[in-house]
Amino acid sequence: MMLKDLFKKSPSANYISLSAAKIKEPNVPTGMWKKCNKCQAPLYTEDVRKNHYICPKCGGYFRMHAYRRIEMIADEGTFEEWDRGLISGNPLKYAGYEKKLEALREKTNLDEAVTTGVCRIGGFPAVLGVCDARFLMSSMGWAVGEKITRAVERASQEKLPVVLFCCSGGARMQEGIVSLMQMAKTSAALKRHSDAGLLTVTVLTDPTTGGVTASFAMLGDIILAEPEALIGFAGPRVIEQTIGQKLPEGFQRSEFLLKHGFLDAIVAREDMKDTLAHILSLHQSGKRLNLPEKWPRRIQGEEPEDGKEPGAAEKKSAPEAASPWERVQISRMASRPSGLDYIERLFTGFMELHGDRCYGDDGAVVGGIASFHGVPVTVIAQQKGKTTKDNIARNFGMPSPEGYRKALRLMKQAEKFGRPIVCFVDTPGAFCGLEAEERGQGSAIAENLFEMSGLKVPVLSVVIGEGGSGGALAMAVANEVWMLENSIYSILSPEGFASILWKDSKRAPEAARVMKITARDLKKLGIIERIIAEPGCAGEQNLHRICGEMEEYMAEFLLKYQDMEPRQIADQRYRRFRNM
Ligand SMILES: [Zn+2]
Repeated sequence: MMLKDLFKKSPSANYISLSAAKIKEPNVPTGMWKKCNKCQAPLYTEDVRKNHYICPKCGGYFRMHAYRRIEMIADEGTFEEWDRGLISGNPLKYAGYEKKLEALREKTNLDEAVTTGVCRIGGFPAVLGVCDARFLMSSMGWAVGEKITRAVERASQEKLPVVLFCCSGGARMQEGIVSLMQMAKTSAALKRHSDAGLLTVTVLTDPTTGGVTASFAMLGDIILAEPEALIGFAGPRVIEQTIGQKLPEGFQRSEFLLKHGFLDAIVAREDMKDTLAHILSLHQSGKRLNLPEKWPRRIQGEEPEDGKEPGAAEKKSAPEAASPWERVQISRMASRPSGLDYIERLFTGFMELHGDRCYGDDGAVVGGIASFHGVPVTVIAQQKGKTTKDNIARNFGMPSPEGYRKALRLMKQAEKFGRPIVCFVDTPGAFCGLEAEERGQGSAIAENLFEMSGLKVPVLSVVIGEGGSGGALAMAVANEVWMLENSIYSILSPEGFASILWKDSKRAPEAARVMKITARDLKKLGIIERIIAEPGCAGEQNLHRICGEMEEYMAEFLLKYQDMEPRQIADQRYRRFRNM
């Protein structure tokens, strides 16, 4: 009997009438039907299972049993469970606790609220921990803390990444202070794992709250969440009681957390396995550049070919006639390719990561991990919008403190995993506004200059449009800085310069000349290493050619640093700025 037939008989079918139907149809065994708790639709269990436990009617997510989740994420037959049978005692001698656990074990066929083990995900080995809400709301008592800690410790020993599917009501009240200590214990294990240069990915599912949010759930190098999951430290009911106000719609949901900078990405359940496999693939160590054979031998690290550079075009194609002021205008053109245009053409498999883990996710800065000829790299770009709406979302490419903090977070992460960093600079300047000052714009920029100077991985910055002042420099403390031929890099805008020094912003064209802000001037001054030719002006029509040249230079840059000691890389960058 099909579900639609049931609806024909009873258009207002609900769970009860379905049960009635079941009695009339003894062939339909119990358990074949499920009711969606979001839209109340009666559903065929098999349809729900095939649909990744997502309601086919309303798209709502069902909570998943740990073993179903493992089936969905681990490659078939690869999951090997660890510490099965490890169970909590009753440290407070809390009345009825042992009985309750026993009943739950029987009912759920689980020993505890978390299942751990090792598996392969898309072929990549990983340690996997999965919480199950059926077991006391997956609260963290001793056994949960111990299983996670053991799994992480073993992952550290075996140099494996950790993937944790979180879901929890928080610490387990019945175990009192012992439960509280699990927060510190799991966090400490993850700290050691991280210090060993190893990856942790956490996936927050509905609901992830309390002590788990305040420990292992929020400690992933990369933090993912399922859509619309409730995530928060204090539960909504507690907050409402405390502040005496009703909370707004969507408060503490995944989308809210993403906006506030605490998640890297929200990933639909059907895409989760592929996403995890992609992340794992970008964290394989010891990857080396794999360049096409037809590329010039010079780039492949062999003998130079009688002075032929890939960008020999740079000398002839520059429109000599363009004045500095004209270049200022070209650098600001709306049709100019943006950071994401370059990322899309120069790299493969770009995965955008969001948020500063502190306040917000700044649209004026995009960043993430991608691959460059087989080598994982962290790429970060200051991003202007293409349309008015996009420009508002990206604040016209003027980063806020949270944008610089996101950039720095991603750079520190790149350093941890030994990934080179490529930055695309294109900003009129850091955002000047009340909120930016409140959140420490100066401090955020300073922190980037401070931390970038010591990064032990190669950093390349390419100015693709406007390189406006400290806002640009905060992403350009690099081993090499390159500029597109018509880009500019300056202490402030020519308009600002003219109005400060000459009290006349109309003298901006003159200021543009005096300031030495073009790529050619800056190359002469020794401020930048390379000019990337723009045949005509950069635009959709010649982007392919510009990127082709940039790609070869980039390969050359990365080859140069591929075998350099981390300390040497930082020293080289230090000297570069020390000499200025
Ligand atoms: Zn539904």
